[in-house]
Amino acid sequence: MIEKEILELRHKLHASPDLSNEEHKTAAIVKNFIVQHHPTEIIEGIGGAGLAAIYKFPKKGKTITLRCELDALPIDETNKLDYKSKNKDISHKCGHDGHMAIVASLALWLKQKPIDSGTIVLLFQPAEETGEGAKRIIEDEKFKNLHTDYVFALHNIPKEPMHNIILMDDGFSAEVLSLIIKVKGKESHASEPENGINPAMGISEMIQKYNPIECFGPIGCQLCHLNTYSYKHGTKILWDFTGQWRIALYTANLEYT
Ligand SMILES: [Zn+2]
Repeated sequence: MIEKEILELRHKLHASPDLSNEEHKTAAIVKNFIVQHHPTEIIEGIGGAGLAAIYKFPKKGKTITLRCELDALPIDETNKLDYKSKNKDISHKCGHDGHMAIVASLALWLKQKPIDSGTIVLLFQPAEETGEGAKRIIEDEKFKNLHTDYVFALHNIPKEPMHNIILMDDGFSAEVLSLIIKVKGKESHASEPENGINPAMGISEMIQKYNPIECFGPIGCQLCHLNTYSYKHGTKILWDFTGQWRIALYTANLEYT
């Protein structure tokens, strides 16, 4: 039964997440699954840890690539699942484990209902979260040699009804532009705060200014996520992914990153 096998694969992938550019174990799990379903060829090491399973059919036709991602995020798993992440501070929070299971399930589907022409490539791309993997795949000779006619990139959209496929001409989720702001203060003894410079005021102003979410359409949002780390002049503020503030007091170290 397809569902049970795919569910088990997803749970296995979920329990063993890898960070971007370190997805070798994840790629091995996917490979071990797919080889059982007789691809014409498997190509490893595309654009890093990337993997392609190729299914060629008897008559000539188009080459269609269906792509998903291998990597997870540097976030600790707090869910209490049987198949919870075994790797500290790493978990599948973007659903890439599900995407891999969906694309891998096509191997079973192609076996049950083979088509008569063309080539299907199941592509497992590394380093999606860092924005590096797609470019490396496109530039890799191993991918170029596949001469693919179409590439379909798969990603879930939470809260959409199940069993729907949504196609967009344009992008359908926020693109990431990251920056690091360093605010430097000046150290002083805790009893002489007037001789120091506390960067907290600048940081709090930035948080107020850049935190709002501006939405300009059903799917068009401008989001600004601020994560504060290592602030150690008077106050250390950590803002975790649940949006809670944790505050502790320190009197040393001036740099806020
Ligand atoms: Zn993602």
